[in-house]
Order: sequence, then C-alpha cells, then structure tokens
Amino acid sequence: MERYTGKSIFKKVAIGRIFFYEKVEYTVKREKVEDVEAEIKRFDAAKVVAISQLDRIYQKAVKEVGEDNAEVFEVHKMMMDDEDYLDSIYNIIREEKVCAEYAVATTGDNFAAMFASMDDAYMQARAADIKDISERLVAVLMGRDTDMGALDEPVILVADDLAPSETVQMDKSKLLAFVTEHGSSNSHTAILARTMNIPALIGIPIQKEWKGRMAVVDGYSGTITIDPDEAYVAEMRKTMEEDEKKRLMLEQLKGKETVTADGKKSIHLYANIGGVEDTAAALANDAEGIGLFRSEFLYLQSEDFPTEEVQFQAYKQVAQNMGGKKVIIRTLDLGADKQAAYFNLGQEDNPALGYRAIRICLTQQEIFRTQLRALLRASAFGNISIMFPMIISLEEVKEIKSILESVKDELREEGISFKEDIEIGVMIETPAAVFISEELGKEVDFFSVGTNDLTQYTLAIDRQNPKLDKFYNPHHPAVLRALQMIIDNGHKGGAWVGICGELGADLELTETFLKMGIDELSVSPTFVLPVRDKVRKTVISE
Ligand code: PEP
Ligand code: MG
Repeated sequence: MERYTGKSIFKKVAIGRIFFYEKVEYTVKREKVEDVEAEIKRFDAAKVVAISQLDRIYQKAVKEVGEDNAEVFEVHKMMMDDEDYLDSIYNIIREEKVCAEYAVATTGDNFAAMFASMDDAYMQARAADIKDISERLVAVLMGRDTDMGALDEPVILVADDLAPSETVQMDKSKLLAFVTEHGSSNSHTAILARTMNIPALIGIPIQKEWKGRMAVVDGYSGTITIDPDEAYVAEMRKTMEEDEKKRLMLEQLKGKETVTADGKKSIHLYANIGGVEDTAAALANDAEGIGLFRSEFLYLQSEDFPTEEVQFQAYKQVAQNMGGKKVIIRTLDLGADKQAAYFNLGQEDNPALGYRAIRICLTQQEIFRTQLRALLRASAFGNISIMFPMIISLEEVKEIKSILESVKDELREEGISFKEDIEIGVMIETPAAVFISEELGKEVDFFSVGTNDLTQYTLAIDRQNPKLDKFYNPHHPAVLRALQMIIDNGHKGGAWVGICGELGADLELTETFLKMGIDELSVSPTFVLPVRDKVRKTVISE
C-alpha cells in the first residue's frame, strides 16, 4: 500500500482501477531505422488502429451530438488516407531512414503550417484537424493510452495535467476520479470535476507504474492510495456510505424554498452547467434554474466551429429540459486555459489578459452573430437569458446591444420567432466592471459576479498557477468589498445581482452574501442542496 498526498478539489471518495492517461507531446525523437519497409508496415498497422478508434468515436458522437457534429471524425478518417499526407510520411521514412513517429509529426507540422497560412478561414481551421490526426497516429505508434473508448469499467484517471478541452471530451460515465500532477484548483478542469461530482486531486507525483492498479482516492484527506489493503478499502466504503446518507438527508430539501430561517430573505438558487447532459444533475439536485451555462464547452467539444443549428439544438434542449425555469447562457468565453485549436488564437505572453471571451466576439463578429442567432432562436422554446463575459466598458455593452438588435432584426425579417424581451446580463469579473457597475446596472437586467476571475484580476494572481494557490484568496477584503459595491450599484441601476463563480458555493460566506443583499447564487449542481440547507439555517435579522 503506497499513499501520496496532494490538494483536494472535491471532497468525495472513489475506489477503482487506474487509467494512466498520456497525452502526446509533439516532441518525438528523430530516430534512425535500418529496415525502412518494416517501419512502413508499422505505420500502416498504426493507421488501421487509429481509423478504428475514429470509427468508434464517430459512432459515439452521432449518438451524443448528432450526425452533423460527428461528421468531423469521418473527415479525420478521410484525411488519414489522403494521398499527399501518406506520400509525405512514406517519403520521410524512406529517404531519411527515420522512425514513423518522426515522419508523422514532421508531416503533421508541415501540413498544419500550410493550412494555417491560407486565406480562407475554413481551410485555416483544417490545420487543427491535421495536428489532431497526426497526434492520434503518433499516440498509437508510441503505444500511449489516450483513448478511453475501449474501457469497459469506470476508472480513476491519472494524468500529468488535463486541459479543459480534453476533460470535456471524456466519457463521463467512465470516470470515478481525476488525479493530476499539475493544474490549479481554480482551473476549469477543477470546475468540471466539481460539476461532475467526482473526487479530484492535484499536485500528486504520478507514476506510470500505477497503470491498471487498484487505488482509493480520498478527497477528504487529499490522498491517493495505491494497492489499498482490505481494511482500508472497508473503511473508505464506510465513508462512502456516510456520504450517501448525508446526500439522502439533503434530498429532503427538494421542493423547499431557499429562504433564511427568519424568513427575512429568499434567494434564487441556480446551477452551473457545461453542457446539455448536465441539466440532469441540475434537475436531480432541484436547481431552480441554470445560472451559468458555459457555452464555450460546446466549442471545446467540437473539432470545428459549431454551426448555428448545432448550437440552436443544444440551447433549445437545455431550455426544454429545464421546463420553463430560467436558463442563463453565457456567450463564448474562450481563451486563457480554454483553447480550441481551430480558433488559432496563437501564443500570448499574458493569455489571462489577452484575446479572449467578449474580445474575440467583438472582433470576429461572425462567430458572435452565429451564436446570438442560435440563442435567440432557442429563446422561443424556454426561459433563456443571455449573459456576456469579461466586460470592461460601457462601450462594449452598447456595442453588444446594438449587435443583438441587428441580429433580432435579421430574424424578424426571416420570420423566425424569438423572445422579444429576452433578459440580458453581464458578468462582473474585472475591477473595471466593478468601478463602473453603477452605469452598467442601468444598461442590463442583471449582473452575475464571476468571482473566479474577479479574484484573479483584483489580486493580480494567475488562477492557473498552482504555485500561487496559497495567495489566491477569494475571501480577501478587497474581493468582498467589491462584491458589496457590485450589489449596491446593480440595485441602484435596477439590475438584480447574483454570483456564479465558485465562491457562490462557499458555505462560510453564505450568511455574508445574504446580508449583503445578494439575489441569486449559481453553483455546481452538487452544491445546490448544501447551499439551500445553509440558507435555511441562517438568521440575518439582528
Ligand atoms: C468566473 O470567472 O467566476 C466564472 C464564473 O467564469 P469562468 O470560471 O468560466 O471564467
Ligand atoms: Mg470568468
């Protein structure tokens, strides 16, 4: 029995086998080979495996996201058989007498650079596909496990680090826990673990030898135990049973109002989701609505820009699943740790301060208009509100509103129905937005405070940097004073004010939020009932 301690992201226990997830770094070695024909045969065999992986992914994607969205995996299969692509690989192996991994990686880089330099945006986006298929082939050649499709039991996923784009693409029904060496507790991968309701640890010195071994992940003590003995497994099963009992107790709060014990204050209690499938957890936990649908996860799940139709279907489905309850959908908040290769955002020195979120939308307006059309069309099927991230100025809000009006005009002309008086809000997650919150409050229907970013920008602490975790203090008086100012200014301007950052679920602050006058809290689905419990036990009248 070996035990390692790291930092816990979510307090829960999991027992199962380890799946060692290895991503393929594009740094393959240029190794010489003697028998080039044998190397070519090795490549051909890897291609057969990669194509069968793509077949499986395609079938799964058709079921989950429909044929249109799954089409990209068919395109990947075709690309793997492209004559020019294959000729280049064969030529490099034969002429340079080098290993197949190197030939594939070099061909992938060359072809990706060629596509990226083209004028046409569609062709530019193909650069990401070429990189993707080349990485898949290299992974197979190296015998690395990146494909969870073949697993027949849920696993504890152990990885060096996980990008949000990788996490969202994983089959959630196969995941018992995440354990990584790198990553920060404020990253979107951590947020996803909380949404998925699974234990997660970071800062664990992972080892490849753990592959396939039994383990216990204890989110309470922040430990992973490899090859646990029977006594420990039995002890942990008890903890799991106690967790289940607590969960059942909280279930009694379903259908109850989120109101303080003295009846002085009631709030709306909503759930944060990352995709259509999360509405099940929101409903199961009795969320009164969706306070944050991170729409960018739709983009991260795709290999190319999701079409208006694909987005429309997703937003409509969420609205319909929630059956008339409020559904706040945030427009694309890509950038920083959330990267989709086909956006070609490029390297930035300060990505958190960079080209992201609303800045992309106001620059590449076609992307924005497509999303707004999909959102407005879906608004005819439920109670949708639209929220805009990373706002820093009044001018941005005015420009957004004028684009929204012009998209509405377009739909009217086409005779397409939508909710005319659709509610709009802004996220308050920059100090600039805090300082101008009085003016912003007059322009929109609501504010939702993104405390994850507001803490990052107020304290000048990169939320992605695990070394700074101990300095990242969302209880800092500057953050709490900003929050009071946002609530007061929002109310002055006639806007209601909620919190959708992770701080909303912090039970130590529930009383403070209520006393400050917060109107809404939006939290990961599993925190809905604990927050309701806390509110119902709180007395705010002095
Ligand atoms: C936030 O910043 O608090 C927020 C809710 O948005 P995200 O975590 O997706 O940046
Ligand atoms: Mg944010």
